[in-house]
Amino acid sequence: MEQKEDNLKEIISHAKEYGFVFPSSEIYDGLAATYDYGQLGSELKNNIKSYWWKSMVQMHDNIVGIDSAIFMHPTTWKASGHVDAFNDPLIDNKDSKKRYRADVLLEEHIEKIRQKIEKEVEKGIKKFSDSFDEAQFRATNPNVLRNAQKITEIEDRMRTTLENNDLEGVYQLIVDLEIVCPISGSKNWTEVRQFNLMFSTELGSVAGDASTIYLRPETAQGIFVNFLNVQKSGRMKIPFGIAQIGKAFRNEIVARQFIFRMREFEQMEMQFFVRPGEEMKWYEYWKETRIKWHKKLGLGDKMYRFHDHIKLAHYANAAADIEFDFPMGFKELEGIHSRTDFDLKQHEQFSGKKLQYFDPELNQNYVPFVVETSVGLDRMFLAVLSASYKNEKLEDGSERSVLSLPAALAPYKVAVMPLTKKDGLPEKANEVLNLLKFDYNCTYDEKDSPGKRYRRQDAIGTPYCIMIDHQTMEDNTVTVRDRDNMEQIRVSIGDLYKIIDEKVNMRTLLVD
Ligand code: ATP
Repeated sequence: MEQKEDNLKEIISHAKEYGFVFPSSEIYDGLAATYDYGQLGSELKNNIKSYWWKSMVQMHDNIVGIDSAIFMHPTTWKASGHVDAFNDPLIDNKDSKKRYRADVLLEEHIEKIRQKIEKEVEKGIKKFSDSFDEAQFRATNPNVLRNAQKITEIEDRMRTTLENNDLEGVYQLIVDLEIVCPISGSKNWTEVRQFNLMFSTELGSVAGDASTIYLRPETAQGIFVNFLNVQKSGRMKIPFGIAQIGKAFRNEIVARQFIFRMREFEQMEMQFFVRPGEEMKWYEYWKETRIKWHKKLGLGDKMYRFHDHIKLAHYANAAADIEFDFPMGFKELEGIHSRTDFDLKQHEQFSGKKLQYFDPELNQNYVPFVVETSVGLDRMFLAVLSASYKNEKLEDGSERSVLSLPAALAPYKVAVMPLTKKDGLPEKANEVLNLLKFDYNCTYDEKDSPGKRYRRQDAIGTPYCIMIDHQTMEDNTVTVRDRDNMEQIRVSIGDLYKIIDEKVNMRTLLVD
């Protein structure tokens, strides 16, 4: 774990050094849990957005995208339940004065027990090697069973206390499990309190005329209130989806861990409207589809796992997270929720307007059920960055930092370099750049030795470096160096576009 945390520190400093992510308003010592994306970070972020948008909207003829306002009529948040129920249970340690989310403390405790089970299984694998039957071991080993039983008991208590808003019960569970503060090591806790996560502000400049409005804590409500606008104007037939990428704001109790948990972040959400009764089929469909989307990036299938929610949100009848193995361990990357007809029905009630769909096949009006997929763009960014960051020892004893980003997501697809600054090589390099720059974000670099320039591109994840040398002037060929295996091939300039395009085009991620 310690090594993993060091790894996160290294990633944070790499991200800053190369212009991916800066602490916000750094000259004033920064603002807690707020970050800015730099010149390369914004490119990577845009490419992640584009991968999501293309695969959700462009690749599905029954999904369309919108861009709704951050501010919404305040009644929206009454109807959605956020004013009354968008709370996290918080608890303070009296010795360290640190504040925690009580549910997160409990989840982390469970994760520790889960780790014990995995250790036991690993021991079994070592001991019995080939003859090891993992399923049988998990079903019969007394230590595994005891720990699994513990997890079930804790999860049961967590579910009942959290669902019943029994804060004293949550406190008692923390005490009974003897959970200590990771900073002070003490069990000296305050009571558990609820904390609403929405930021509010005043609308209107005339005193007395102002009313409280909220910064949206999720983008989904902008989709719900536009459900009929989109359905009617786009003549959409159920099942259909509405997608949106945009900022969301939450006054998080504990906002540590870099861009994993911020107070201002971006979500990529899609609400899929289905016939009542068909929601579980679509819930399974979207779980499957979304994990495939993640795995297509090639960061390693083992980096993902599903986690079913212990406590369902006020609007859901089924919910699962796709968790990713971040430098801090497995944590939520995306949520897939079966939101029933809760939101549309609430908006019908609060607005007094019908939000129904006429199903011509059933010859019937109904409020559709909704399956939502919701992924944090910043968490995707951290997942891609952390899984791609490597420090490699090379055969000649030297080291290199490399970001082996999925090529289609890399900020620059190609770096064009003249071997020297004379003999017409820079001019030729610019010709090559002009050939590619209309389709791909390219960079030009003529400073320092070729070795240094290659390292610089490795560190920012550029998949290809094209070197223009004296031979280029004679036969119109260049060398193309591959970031990952560092091999160079000589190709004719006429073939460059095809070679590069095959590897870096977003198409590579979108085709089945
Ligand atoms: P968590 O349990 O980690 O607080 P959540 O279950 O509240 O997350 P959702 O409401 O399901 O999150 O939001 C959907 C997605 O939005 C999450 O899967 C995550 O990727 C992203 N997200 C939520 N809160 C934050 C945040 N504070 N910073 C960055 N991304 C976030």
